[in-house]
Order: sequence, then C-alpha cells, then structure tokens
Amino acid sequence: MSIKVENVVKKYGRQTALNHVSFEVFKGEIAGFIGPNGAGKSTMMRIICGLLAPFSGDVLINDISVSGNSLEVRKNLGYLPEHNPLYPEMYIREYLEYAAGLYKNQDIKSNRINEIIELTGLAPEINKKIGQLSKGYRQRVGLAQALLHNPQILILDEPTTGLDPNQIIEIRSLIKELGREKTILLSTHIMQEVEAICDRVIIINKGEIVADGHPSELKSRHTGSFQSLVVEFNKHVGAEIFEPVDGIDLVKQVDEHTWIIQYEYEKDIRPEIFNLAVKNNIAVLALQKVDKRLEDVFRELTAR
Ligand code: ADP
Ligand code: MG
Repeated sequence: MSIKVENVVKKYGRQTALNHVSFEVFKGEIAGFIGPNGAGKSTMMRIICGLLAPFSGDVLINDISVSGNSLEVRKNLGYLPEHNPLYPEMYIREYLEYAAGLYKNQDIKSNRINEIIELTGLAPEINKKIGQLSKGYRQRVGLAQALLHNPQILILDEPTTGLDPNQIIEIRSLIKELGREKTILLSTHIMQEVEAICDRVIIINKGEIVADGHPSELKSRHTGSFQSLVVEFNKHVGAEIFEPVDGIDLVKQVDEHTWIIQYEYEKDIRPEIFNLAVKNNIAVLALQKVDKRLEDVFRELTAR
C-alpha cells in the first residue's frame, strides 16, 4: 500500500494552502510530514483521506484515485484527526463499538475490538469513561478507532501534540510498533519526533514541499554554510582569543571554560585553535565538531 500525491493544489478563497504538492510514501514506511503551523499539513492529510477535495491534482492510494473512489479508498485508510472528536460520556468499549458500527459495509467483530484494546494498551483503563482519561489515553482511543477496520495505511495528524513527555514516548513507541506492519504518514512540528520514529521526512512550508528524503540524507544535503565546534580550555578565555582566526562566523560562551564556535563549512579551523591555545599558554581539554541536527535543517528551510 502506497500513497502518491500528485500535484495537489488547494485554495481557501484567495489563499493557496497547497501549491502543487507532490510526494510519495512507500509501502511499509513511516514518513514524517513536518512543517510549521499553517504550512498545510492538516489540509493535505484531509485530502489524502478523501474528506476534502483538491482544487486540482490527485491522490492515489495503491494506484486508485481518491477523488472518484473515496469510499473504496477509505477502507484502506485509518485517520487520526488533529482535534480528535471523542465522546466524553462514553466508555471506551462503548465508543469503539459505536465507531465500528459506522463502517457500514465492513463487519467489525467484537473480537476485533478486544484485539485493538490490547494492541493500543487500553486494557488498564477499560472501565473508565473517555472524559476521565488522560490526554495520552484519549489519544490511544483515537488510534484504536483509526485501526478498527485494520487499514493498511495510517494518517496521523500531530498524534503527540499536547501530551506530556512520558505520554509522548509511549505513543511514539506504539506508532513505531504499528509501523512494522503498516504504512504511516504522521504530521508533527517537532523535529526530534521525526528523528525518533521516521524512515522518511517530508518538509512542507507555506504550502510547498521544501525537502523530501531520509533524515541523514537531508542532513548531508542541506549542510548550510556553517558548521560548529565545541572547545573546552583548562582556564577562562575571553572571546578576543578567537579574533586572529579566519572564517569564524560567531562564538558563544557555554560556561567559563567552554565555547561553541560557528565557522565556514569549507574550513577546518581546528589546527589554528590548537596553535592559538599553545601561543596563549592554555591547554585544549576537548575539541569536537557538532553534528548538524535535523532541527537546523528544518530551521534553514522554514524560517521566514
Ligand atoms: P497545518 O496543519 O500545517 O498547521 P493547515 O492545513 O491547518 O496547516 O492550514 C494551512 C493554511 O490554510 C493556513 O494558513 C490556514 O489558516 C488555512 N486554512 C486551513 N483550513 C482553512 C479553512 N477551513 N478555511 C480557510 N482557511 C483555512
Ligand atoms: Mg494541522
């Protein structure tokens, strides 16, 4: 099961929310769909699920067009919306049975509901009403509902937004687990999320795709023009010590003995730093290049 987005344009009135968006998610992948707020992530996801019609372009789910066959296509899609509408007065099982009943032409057996409760880790809270659950557990109910009809593809819109750090880790590991069998497109504005669980990253900014690839590929492709070093000396040094070095962009003190130096990408200033230290009768205790983080790539591509 794969998702193919072809040249999708979506307008809200005069505003273009998606501007010729194309990308593909391959079978078995967990793809991160990342972009700042308002970039067009939710709009794109709703179009993929056939809930919103594009102005032009199309989405193919396993070569079947969503526009003409949204009911057929939806059998293979599970969708967790950004603002997951749940019924606070319902018990978990009651809600899942109700949701199962909405899949009219797919008979979802009560066995399946038990399976899903196990799979999503809802069992310990099963006697509670949805309104009594923590946000993390409510998100599990949302995932359970998206999984009821055993779809091959999951579209998850910001599944961890608003959760506390423990809940985030739990939901991420659940998504990773699900990703062993399913194709997943998940949106987020948190770069570490993508690094933690995704095989692919698709970056969208102002309705346009600005990067698409494996996280490590993106890091090497979008190196920017600077790199960084962390230097620890054996005693206090002032910023003026770096003045003679050519190619330094900026220096930042981390603590009394430690500095971060940002410098031109093509240069290697490490020998010069050593020489400077020797000249000034200072010892270098540590000198390390800082790996470019995906976070930096994201900022480079989406900062206005
Ligand atoms: P994201 O999910 O990345 O935050 P959205 O897809 O929600 O982005 O929104 C993309 C752009 O479209 C934003 O500028 C938003 O204000 C606008 N938008 C979204 N939904 C509507 C709507 N129903 N009517 C008008 N504008 C909308
Ligand atoms: Mg959104």
